[in-house]
Amino acid sequence: MRVLITGGAGFIGSHLADRLLSEGHYVLVMDNLITGELENIAQHISNPRFEFIHHNVSNHIHVSGPLDWILHFASPASPIDYLELPIQTMKVNSLGTHNTLGLAKAKGSKFLLASTSEVYGDPEVHPQPESYWGSVNPIGPRGVYDESKRFAEALTMAYHHKHGLDTRIGRIFNCYGPRLRVNDGRVVSNFICQALAGRDLTAYGDGKQTRSFQYVSDLVEGFMRLMTVEFHEPVNLGNPEEFTVIELAELVTELTGSKSKVVFEPLPTDDPKRRLPDISRAKQLLKWTPTIDLRTGLERTIAWFRMQAAMTTIAD
Ligand code: UDP
Repeated sequence: MRVLITGGAGFIGSHLADRLLSEGHYVLVMDNLITGELENIAQHISNPRFEFIHHNVSNHIHVSGPLDWILHFASPASPIDYLELPIQTMKVNSLGTHNTLGLAKAKGSKFLLASTSEVYGDPEVHPQPESYWGSVNPIGPRGVYDESKRFAEALTMAYHHKHGLDTRIGRIFNCYGPRLRVNDGRVVSNFICQALAGRDLTAYGDGKQTRSFQYVSDLVEGFMRLMTVEFHEPVNLGNPEEFTVIELAELVTELTGSKSKVVFEPLPTDDPKRRLPDISRAKQLLKWTPTIDLRTGLERTIAWFRMQAAMTTIAD
């Protein structure tokens, strides 16, 4: 297959590129590098089945040759990124989704949208099934991400119904692993970096809010399977094990052997209190369930962050 991954230099997109290339496919990565990093794809630069296109998908897209799939992963995705880049975030998920859907229509490609558990906002239903419509504050700081992803889903469904485009929508719940950016601001990368540097771990609010964390290879496997089924409605992809932020902090402290303490900082506006995926649909449809538990995934991620820190020290 010849596959275009928008946002393919980002955290999840680059892991997906690795997987597709390892299976013998042709991969074109399109990224404007505002949150993605060339380092994530540098290992493929000399691969004849790989191409990097430096482009912002919010502008008109031109790609030569056929495309079997367009995987639309471009978007700032960490809360601090989309708070800093509110308009780019809204543009990539609206104009960028429109452009990529238009390209899929022109090329006769299949289309996969990387959506998010943020479409559920601060949910009032636990766990969250795909049938839950969510509880989103449209004008709050997170609204730029939540609403534009909701728009992206609506537009994807419209192209499916109106133009018969063969589409998929995966709703990604919190994901972690190697290649999370050091300054990404998400809880897993923050805690690991803080613990390794011997700094205090910053729990926001009372730290009792929950998340469920999936390791990136599990998510990639979920997407690979989603591409193989004819199913057009959204599918949750997440790990159904729920942890409080405090529990995560304790686990990171233990696994890093750090002496860091937990300190409390103000809770960001509209920060969801509980997030937990109902993955019945993915289990049934894709025969998929996450296989990497939090302890194992964190050990691997910590090892990667240690390596990054060591390489930075050598470079200095
Ligand atoms: N969080 C935290 N300390 C940090 C970063 C995040 O306590 O240094 C909390 C944040 O308030 C949220 C949870 O951890 O409740 C997950 O945050 P993240 O930014 O990873 O993603 P979100 O799930 O909110 O999109």
